[in-house]
Amino acid sequence: MACKVSLTYSGLMRGSDLTLSYHGTPVVHAASISLAPGQVTALVGPNGSGKSTLLRALARLHKPDSGSVVLTPTAGSTDDTVDAFALSHRDFARRVTLLAQSRPTPSGLCVRELVEFGRHPHRGRWVRGDENGAASVARAMEMTGVADLADKQVDQLSGGQLQRVWLACCLAQDTDVLLLDEPTTYLDLRYQVELLDLIRDLADEHGVTVGVVLHDLDQAAALADVVVLLDGGRVLASGTPQQVLVSDTLSAVYGIRVDVETDDATGHVTARARGRHNSAARVIRTS
Ligand code: ADP
Ligand code: MG
Repeated sequence: MACKVSLTYSGLMRGSDLTLSYHGTPVVHAASISLAPGQVTALVGPNGSGKSTLLRALARLHKPDSGSVVLTPTAGSTDDTVDAFALSHRDFARRVTLLAQSRPTPSGLCVRELVEFGRHPHRGRWVRGDENGAASVARAMEMTGVADLADKQVDQLSGGQLQRVWLACCLAQDTDVLLLDEPTTYLDLRYQVELLDLIRDLADEHGVTVGVVLHDLDQAAALADVVVLLDGGRVLASGTPQQVLVSDTLSAVYGIRVDVETDDATGHVTARARGRHNSAARVIRTS
């Protein structure tokens, strides 16, 4: 997945005091999270800790009981900070995209047609008018390594190929903010590594604001500028990987002994969960 893009992005997203419920039962409690331009913020935490629900609220797909989601203007813009829920569907979709954790697989579409759906907020009533559309779609397919699959039917793809096509759909949207819910799911080792590299490049080279749920603490430690640890629907800790990925905290949150090692030379953090067979230390996954 080569990263050859010529986009310029910028935009800060902040969720404040978000309480989120299903059928009247709160599952996220007064959670606050800030996603900064050019930074990767990783959300980690056990199964059911509220990561997806929080990400969906940032993406305006889950209406908060209370709290707010705001967006600061794109660099060079004269706009004020805006309430995300006050924007039109199209204006919001021009600024924020979400790669959701689960999606239905459409049938009767080829890869290029699915990626073209990412252009929907940039189109008027007619397809014409989206001058950058074809270039954005081609670039997104190249970045995610699916250009060769352009004419293939999406219901004939492997899980990993389809995951990359959905990511291409998000990138074709050309947004300031990129929200990704467990994007490495289904990907083999090579594409996991390339996807993480691509996310880092988008943040570093193009100032994209990235919020990503990762199910691998080592990947979060290696990729993220900021790690947000959720437990029971609350933000338990937020800071650098070194600040948040702490043995005692993780052991308490996951209910299993977790050893954390820090490489003195690089500062890189590695987390290992210890099972009953202690000699077989396992890299832990958060969901
Ligand atoms: P995570 O992504 O961290 O695994 P989720 O945000 O999916 O957690 O879920 C948080 C809590 O909300 C869990 O207790 C889960 O069971 C509950 N939940 C998630 N989706 C629904 C739903 N559609 N209806 C009811 N409860 C839900
Ligand atoms: Mg989830």
